Amino acid sequence: MATAKDLLTFIKESPSAFHVISNMEKELSIAGFHYLPEGHKWDIQYGESYYTKRNDTSLIAWRMPEKEARGFHIAAAHSDSPAFLVKENPEVAGGQYIRLNTEKYGGMILSTWLDRPLSVAGRVSIAGENGVESRLVHIDRDLLVIPSLAIHMERKLNAGYEYNAQKDMLPIFTEKEGKSFRELVAEYAGVEPDEILGQELYLYVRDEGHIIGRDEEWLMSPRLDDLQCVYGILQGLKSKKPSEYISMAAIFHNEEVGSTTRQGADSTFLSDVLAWIGEALGMGDGERRRMIVGSFLISADNAHGVHPAHKEKADPTNQPVLNGGVVIKFHGNQKYTSDAMTAGTLRLLCKEAGISSQTYHNRSDIAGGSTLGNISVSHVSVPSVDIGLAQLAMHSAMETAGSRDLDDFIRLLTVYYGK
Ligand code: ZN
Repeated sequence: MATAKDLLTFIKESPSAFHVISNMEKELSIAGFHYLPEGHKWDIQYGESYYTKRNDTSLIAWRMPEKEARGFHIAAAHSDSPAFLVKENPEVAGGQYIRLNTEKYGGMILSTWLDRPLSVAGRVSIAGENGVESRLVHIDRDLLVIPSLAIHMERKLNAGYEYNAQKDMLPIFTEKEGKSFRELVAEYAGVEPDEILGQELYLYVRDEGHIIGRDEEWLMSPRLDDLQCVYGILQGLKSKKPSEYISMAAIFHNEEVGSTTRQGADSTFLSDVLAWIGEALGMGDGERRRMIVGSFLISADNAHGVHPAHKEKADPTNQPVLNGGVVIKFHGNQKYTSDAMTAGTLRLLCKEAGISSQTYHNRSDIAGGSTLGNISVSHVSVPSVDIGLAQLAMHSAMETAGSRDLDDFIRLLTVYYGK
């Protein structure tokens, strides 16, 4: 249960993607990983560990083997979760309330954000000595709520109410004129309000994670998708088993909005990093590409467990359960990258790690979601498998997952990174 508790702490301290990456950096530095900034020429030694980042929301970390590498063993996950972005000029006055104007980032279950304490986290930019600099912001107190309409005022609420993101989902901030939202943000960022040049601020739910169930079977927490996999990959990479490969973690931002950003999986981030590593090792383009041929990618993003009241929503013969082990995902139209060879490789790794695996397909009449594996492979074309940990209520403000699956996942990553 220690790992599960550590995960809940990691999630609590990571209210935005900026904080996820900042907390990963802290853990990696303690574990002896050296930071190599993008845009600098890199010096890389065998036997050492490194990381780089893009936009402070995506991060790639890797461990060098003791001698010449056979390829890259990459595991990927995403740093973002659905949330509400606070708009520019956010204060909306009306009656007794000042509300904050927001818009959706990703596809959350709207109703789950109602009637619970919320706050704000992200970053602002200010003028620094070398141009624009960023400052993390975390208003670490109960600040906001999006109140439901009373059942007496809308009898249809329990029959499937259609929430309007602009009308129903704005949180109340305060009652009357006084300190502005910008002034409050500046205070928490440690800057003056008129120093702020730009902002990326998101609502987050204040609820801490819980371990629940008669025998502590389950975790309940915000952002389990995909911080459970991010955290697991990080722990696997830190295990520092000797390897013949370059062991690599690639954490991408913007998966929830299609990955098509400078720092998303549909960018050159991963291919750039592989090129710069090759350059630092004195490899030519062809030599590096040959090394990539012998590489492998595990794309890790949480999977749907069978819902206790809605078994009919799951595929008839592939029904992942919580605490049932790592889920291997398959898709006829190749939204998931697993095939006979890569699923076979994954199953061998599971066997070696002494853990169970299970399988996921969408029902044939349900479109299902997508993830970053196939997008990443379109840029760096290596054999790849899509996996995840089973959870319930994906994209709810509070999600539920098995409390034992994370240990299995870390065991799997440790074996993978020890190849
Ligand atoms: Zn996800």
